[in-house]
Amino acid sequence: MTFIDLRSDTVTQPSPEMREVIASAPVGDDVYGDDPTVNSLEERVAAMFGMEAGLFTPTGSLANQLAIRMLVKPGEELLTETNSHIVRAELGAAAVFSGITTRTWLAPLGELKASDVLAIAKPDSGPYLVSTTAIAVENTHNFGGGTVQSIDEIAALRRESKKLGIAMHLDGARIWNAHVASGVSFSEYGKHFDTISVCLSKGLGAPVGSVMLSTKDRVASARQWRKRYGGGMRQIGILAAAGHFALDHNIAKLADDHRRARVLADACHAVAPLTIDPRTVMTNIVALDLASLNVTAADINAQLKEAGILASALGPKFLRLVTHLDFTDAHLDKVLEILPGLLKSALVAK
Ligand SMILES: *Cc1c(COP(=O)(O)O)cnc(C)c1O
Repeated sequence: MTFIDLRSDTVTQPSPEMREVIASAPVGDDVYGDDPTVNSLEERVAAMFGMEAGLFTPTGSLANQLAIRMLVKPGEELLTETNSHIVRAELGAAAVFSGITTRTWLAPLGELKASDVLAIAKPDSGPYLVSTTAIAVENTHNFGGGTVQSIDEIAALRRESKKLGIAMHLDGARIWNAHVASGVSFSEYGKHFDTISVCLSKGLGAPVGSVMLSTKDRVASARQWRKRYGGGMRQIGILAAAGHFALDHNIAKLADDHRRARVLADACHAVAPLTIDPRTVMTNIVALDLASLNVTAADINAQLKEAGILASALGPKFLRLVTHLDFTDAHLDKVLEILPGLLKSALVAK
């Protein structure tokens, strides 16, 4: 059985056209800086965000970790949202590799409010308390349900944190989705951050790859750390070529993912109103709260699977569906035939 896979936007298959570009990419040894396709991708993404330089990494986690390592010294503190990827889904890497401690603020839907962050920011804390040296912002916010962060809140946080001497990192794994949903340019986002990580392997559909962005100096240092971690790669122009292809062709297509996610959310809301507020579905993530139903996320997940649909049970009552490049309108119709019915029976059964 071929499944309709809504577990994540990482499940996409490289298209035949992307594979052609991969096959014909000029390559060289990237540890020597000799891979022209990698070099041009790093320069291209840096320029898009108005940053000086970029570093290709195999994963978004590595791009995040290299970036925050450049901003926060061992024993210093990074502030991040309670359900952010950096603190929830990178297996403690900031502590393990960089001796970074984290403190978190909790935001409904992961939505950034500058005042929440500033309330716990404590720079220059002296010999007794941990000093805050950086803040991480996730845009869009994954576990928050694909939430697009307000550019005004980002700008306010930048203005105030700068006065405190605190740096800012953007976990922009899905910044492409934020841009398409908000119309805010990449360079406008870039203005407010010291370091940025972006993923080519999520909604953009490349098989591998992220880019860490910052100043020339920080990127040069991150390049050494990437090698130290075992992430120095050789003829990876074949991967960077997929990244170029993704940037050329797949940013505009995210609007379709967003539309399909909203249709799904509307259909769920229509039968079980408390599972989701469709107005919160700004991008490609449909986060269903099953608290009002007589089933667990695992139950619905199993029933969906039986019908040929895969989703993610991320908590006892938290079911996540993520739309992506390989999820078509025909797939959407099929999911609409199944999912609302399952929610409806769970509602009636209570
Ligand atoms: C996917 C993701 C990452 C990076 O994940 P990798 O699997 O390491 O590439 C980082 N941040 C967010 C918000 C993500 O969703």
